[in-house]
Parts: sequence; C-alpha cells; structure tokens
Amino acid sequence: MKRYHKSVPTGRFAPSPTGRLHIGNLRTAVVAWLWSRYDNSQFLLRFEDLDERTVAAEHYESQQQDLQLLGLDWDDPIVNQTDRLDIYHDVLSQLVSQDLVYPCFCSRREIREAASAPHRSHAGPHYPGTCADLSSAQRSERAQTRSAALRIRGDENGRGFSDLVLGDQHFAVDDFVVQRNDGTPAYHLVVVVDDAASNIEVVVRADDLTDSTSRHLFLYELLGYEPPQYAHVPLVLAPNGDRLAKRHGAVTLEDRAGHGETPADVLSYLAASLNLCQPGEMVTASELRQRFDPAGLPTEPLVLEPNFLAD
Ligand code: GLU
Repeated sequence: MKRYHKSVPTGRFAPSPTGRLHIGNLRTAVVAWLWSRYDNSQFLLRFEDLDERTVAAEHYESQQQDLQLLGLDWDDPIVNQTDRLDIYHDVLSQLVSQDLVYPCFCSRREIREAASAPHRSHAGPHYPGTCADLSSAQRSERAQTRSAALRIRGDENGRGFSDLVLGDQHFAVDDFVVQRNDGTPAYHLVVVVDDAASNIEVVVRADDLTDSTSRHLFLYELLGYEPPQYAHVPLVLAPNGDRLAKRHGAVTLEDRAGHGETPADVLSYLAASLNLCQPGEMVTASELRQRFDPAGLPTEPLVLEPNFLAD
C-alpha cells in the first residue's frame, strides 16, 4: 500500500470556490477543523477548482476570509486542484493502460432517461452501462459526433464502510465517470488522488457525498492507496427540506452581519447545532477544540426556521 509519510495525521476541508460559503458549508468546515485540531493534527485547505464554468476568482479569498472569521486556521500549502492536472492525467493514463475504463458517449439526458430510478443525491443517477461493451467500430463511429467521457468499470457488489458519524453504510459502485467529456478529470477521481496524496486520515464532509463514498473506496482499491476513514456531517436544510443554497435567504456570514450577528454569534449557533454547547452560549473556536466530542455529533439534518433565513 502506498502511504505518503507524515508524522501527524491530517484532515481537510475541500470547498469549490464558486461563491461565498453558506452556513451549511461553514458547519461542515467547523467539524472538519475540529476533527483535526482537537488532537493537534494537521488541517489542510484544498480548493476543488477544476470546473472553470463555476469557479469565481474572488471566492478563493472570500472563502478563506470567512473561515478565518470563525477562528479556523490551516496548514500550508493550500492546494488548488488546477495545479495538479498532470498528476490526475498520469493516474488516468494508468487506468487506461490497465483497461479499467471505457469511453462513454452518452449525454446526461440519455443517462437520466435510461436510469431505472430517479436518484436525489449528489451521486446522480446510476449509469446503466449503455457504452460498456461497444465494439471498437462502434466507438470510432460514435467518436465522430461526440467526444467521450471515461468511465471506470464498477463492481455490482458495491462497497460498505463504517462512517464515523452515520454508522454502517453500503452503496452500489456503478460505472462512474473519471474523466469528463471535455477532458477534465472528474471529482470522483481527483478527490481520491488528492486525499491519498495528502495522507488524509479522516475525510470529513457533507452527507450529500455519503453515497459516493463506496465509489471512492473502490478507486482506493484499484489504485492501491490506503483508504481514509469517513465522517459525513448531516446537511443543513432550508425550511422546505431542500439542501441549503444562497437563494434561501440570509445564509452567508455577510448576510448574517446584516441581521446583526457577528461571526462569533454564527460560530456559537453552529456549535449548538452540533451539540458542542448550549443554545445561546457563546464559544470560541479554541474553546470548541477543548470540548469537541465526535460521538455527540447529530446524525439528522439541521432544518432551518423560516425566521432565521428572512432577509
Ligand atoms: N467540493 C465538495 C463540495 O464543496 C466537497 C468534496 C469533498 O469534501 O470530498 O461540496
């Protein structure tokens, strides 16, 4: 097993710099930070910035500022995935040379229509295998009109894992995309390559990625990396049950300031929602570090009150 050696175990927060962080993102960041810092481990910040259609240059800065306003810090260097494209392409070449991937010409719409059941999660609809067994003549023909994504051949047995927050989990591993059809390495690949390269011991992230984790574990096996443990933090939801987004109202630190709340107020609110202090009690990040208890984290989403969000 490959293990990049470091003396101190490492955690990370991996936002996409596409906008201001909202309180759902900040809540996950607080848990990720505490999980590392309560036992003095390293904590890394990684910008998942490969999707140039959605990345906005100013948000590398705004996201760092908002984390700092809550009292969170991180170890150098900050990783930008756009600096690591050569590494991802090397791993993709390795998968191609081992014949573990195949070109897929399906459009999103075709996949949606062919998938048996609608799927609400981040993992998206499970791929029905349309392009898995095309002949080379069929591939050449399809390649004339559409460029191909690369899909890895999954494993219908899926993979199970014991989530440090949510307990035992098991999900299917379909033939998922490792390179998009514009040539960009896909999230499921790069998250594994980067977490392995940074020697991440516990991946703390939001619960919408729980059902992608089986895919990630499958890739760890194929690439021969030692897998991390996972801790998925239940989502923050809007009053109607949707995953929280900017459009729901006062969700960023900037918006909360408009409600007269300081970053310290927001941190204390988030800490109470994580069972780390009493509602209304003021706490600082360094106090939370002393009292962090992973076993007490909630396993259900936090549903916001309409009043909380009103602009
Ligand atoms: N970039 C992802 C997000 O912002 C997080 C991915 C991860 O933590 O693995 O939702």
